[in-house]
Amino acid sequence: MSDIAKDATASRMPTYVGMPAFPKAAHEAVADTRLRRNLAHATGTIRERRAAAVAELDDWAELRDAGKRIKDHTLEYLGHYLRMLEGKVTEAGGVVHWARDAEEANAIVARLIKETGETEVVKVKSMATQEIGLNEALAEHGITALETDLAELIVQLADDRPSHILVPAIHKNRAEIRDLFSHRMPSAPEGLTDEPADLAEAARRHLRAKFLSAKVAVSGANFAIADTGTILVVESEGNGRMCLTLPETLITVMGIEKLLPSARDLEVFLQLLPRSSTAERMNPYTSAWTGVTPGDGPQNFHLVLLDNGRTDVRDEEVGRQALRCIRCSACLNVCPVYARAGGHAYGSPYPGPIGAILSPQIRGIGSKVDASLPFASSLCGACYEVCPVAIDIPEVLVHLRAKAAKKLPEKTVMKVAAWGLRSPARLALGQTLAGRARSLAPHLRFPRAWADTRDLPPIPKESFRAWWKRTHGDSADRKDAS
Ligand code: SF4
Repeated sequence: MSDIAKDATASRMPTYVGMPAFPKAAHEAVADTRLRRNLAHATGTIRERRAAAVAELDDWAELRDAGKRIKDHTLEYLGHYLRMLEGKVTEAGGVVHWARDAEEANAIVARLIKETGETEVVKVKSMATQEIGLNEALAEHGITALETDLAELIVQLADDRPSHILVPAIHKNRAEIRDLFSHRMPSAPEGLTDEPADLAEAARRHLRAKFLSAKVAVSGANFAIADTGTILVVESEGNGRMCLTLPETLITVMGIEKLLPSARDLEVFLQLLPRSSTAERMNPYTSAWTGVTPGDGPQNFHLVLLDNGRTDVRDEEVGRQALRCIRCSACLNVCPVYARAGGHAYGSPYPGPIGAILSPQIRGIGSKVDASLPFASSLCGACYEVCPVAIDIPEVLVHLRAKAAKKLPEKTVMKVAAWGLRSPARLALGQTLAGRARSLAPHLRFPRAWADTRDLPPIPKESFRAWWKRTHGDSADRKDAS
């Protein structure tokens, strides 16, 4: 990869600074028993509730198939639908901006905020803005972005990183959150308890003043409807709706794959998403807006359409299915690797199985972190089973594994094996040598990563070919030759 290409991918989605590759990061996380306990409790609860919510619907398989087909169709005609969306948003009084990568998107948002003269904005939880590191980029321009989703606020107050798509503070328990609020939230009451209602009330008081004074809000988008120009955000707390309706200016940053052709398609996705993510029959809050409406809601609306490597991913025959993702997080909650390693080990805003296939595709598979991600899976297939848009995550993982740079010992073993397997004579010689050295085999520790975790099966004294030759004479060789 050229330096220019490296720079280009680096500006798409930064790897967390100082982040080691997955095996080392996961090794450290697995040693943290409190983290493992918090994760096991939280993912176990959501997993059971999701299974029950999905089991209520007789037509779940049909819905899942419909979701997959709508997304595949939209991805195939993406350019057509994006142009349609741009036209409709503009017609309705919004302004559409196109961003090739994180750098461009951050520059557009910073400029738009500066033009309002504001230095503080409220934010609706958004994976796209995390992907591009918007908060950090705005800070460089002297702009503070205040997260208003409760879990996102917890992560921000703790100077931490999100570790789950839907529950970014899943790695923290209630006692830790109480301590955090008491120390970092000036309005937190004396003697705050760790009861969920008390913690929510403290956050509500803290955020209310911000909602009422904010002039600018930044959001992501769950869906955009091409033929009407409507943008949708679904959420559980209602804080997002405050951001989407109270400020004068609303800036939405949306990955281009969030598009749906028409409002009719929502019938499918507004069933798939809540049951897969929060195990609810429908989202408590679904906010939809089309451009601007005089005298009602934000009077300036900007839509930033973010590519950031997505068109490259779309051109990949196997990998493109990752763009169907609706960020429900069901795959995280069933993944045995995520449950033990936690979200930080994945080194990007997208953790778990979807992170393992999305991050290396967006950033490119050149770095150590990205090359390790396709291996952060047991390939058990549980993620595919629960995915509401049927993304075959194991298939993409195997596809990416083939592309990842191999380590020298692995490369050497593969090269020697390929050389030996190309010739019957070399194979026979290898089998004879292996038979003679069979007593050494149990003590072999090469390559380490394989040998330390696997028992080598006993090597027979005699190969099948040798046995055949001994018992049937040369007839086998003659058949081979013919
Ligand atoms: S890959 Fe599937 S299960 Fe995982 S977050 Fe995306 S839509 Fe949900």
